[in-house]
Amino acid sequence: MACAPPSINSLEALGFSSFFAAQWDPEGDLVPGRVVAQHRGEWDVATPTGSLRAILAGRLYEERGQPAASRALAQPAVGDWVLLSQSTQGQLHVIERVLTRRTQLVRGAAGRRTTPQVIVANVDLVVVVCALSPPGTDPDVVRRGLNPKRIERYLAAVTQGGADAAIVLNKADLHEDARAVVAALGARFAPYPVITTSATTPNGHTELGVLLDPGKTIGLVGLSGTGKSSLARALLGDSTLRTGAVREVDGRGRHTTVHRELFMTPSGALLIDTPGMREFALAEEHSGLDGFEDVIEIAAGCRFRDCRHRGEPGCAATAALARGELSEERLLSYLELAEELHQKRAFYRKRARDKLR
Ligand code: GDP
Ligand code: ZN
Repeated sequence: MACAPPSINSLEALGFSSFFAAQWDPEGDLVPGRVVAQHRGEWDVATPTGSLRAILAGRLYEERGQPAASRALAQPAVGDWVLLSQSTQGQLHVIERVLTRRTQLVRGAAGRRTTPQVIVANVDLVVVVCALSPPGTDPDVVRRGLNPKRIERYLAAVTQGGADAAIVLNKADLHEDARAVVAALGARFAPYPVITTSATTPNGHTELGVLLDPGKTIGLVGLSGTGKSSLARALLGDSTLRTGAVREVDGRGRHTTVHRELFMTPSGALLIDTPGMREFALAEEHSGLDGFEDVIEIAAGCRFRDCRHRGEPGCAATAALARGELSEERLLSYLELAEELHQKRAFYRKRARDKLR
């Protein structure tokens, strides 16, 4: 399978902007391609002439040397632009270079113990998907669907990696006054756009269209159940995303199933949907009390290890509150998050126990 010289136009359709073009010599032997799926030690790379299976150049394996963190970050991720040379050993092409990323979404960036992992690279826009609830829904369920604190955490992780963000309030069809929610959140999260969608109503997702420029790569994040798959299906206009499976003919003429994670919408925008992207929401949930280091430090001074910081004797947090060194709002946010985390951990522990039975 030879790599015909690609036309810059079709590379652009895959998201090859001037930022990446500047890192490539069209006169050279290497061909640019975009990583669309990752396997153990192998990558599926989309080029204007089709999808190729590629391995990493041995030199790059070696360069991955030293600290585990930078090694993990240097691995090609879905969305990366790479430069390929053709292998002499038949079908497999070789990734000779990973081009400098414009953006990256990293999981575990804030944690100190976990090795950070690039979930996706070169996403232009990350859409934070929330779900509106019908009137009379249990407040806990409402808060699960739409939680400004969680949106804040997502925005922090997304913008840290250099991508743009937008907030989508899905299931607008269920809510009686979505516009009021948009106004309130719009004020709180400006300049990030807040828009409503309805993924299961025909034409209900049209507002999302304004975010989809040709050649622009977008990803959806949010808790499960908020409607990410439904939105993706609505955007793509077919059902391939249900499994991400595409039938392809391999080098020996057999039909194989390829699990692609980068899709083109009819409007020409590129949609990234990886398992990691889905786990990202959960990881963010579990990243725990990152961002509350100040409160954690103060609370370390409490007399009792299991202090609930609600006026117990010797509570350092209550004392800091009294001295004006800690705001009540900050302490309440911390307590709220700690409680949420506590309940979630109990839930996952129970689920793990149930699985063992
Ligand atoms: P995901 O876990 O985020 O991918 O969520 P899904 O796309 O699987 O949706 C979860 C459930 O919500 C499904 O039963 C969908 O049919 C439903 N759903 C998704 N979007 C909407 C919407 O805009 N309006 C309504 N009423 N239901 C929706
Ligand atoms: Zn305390």
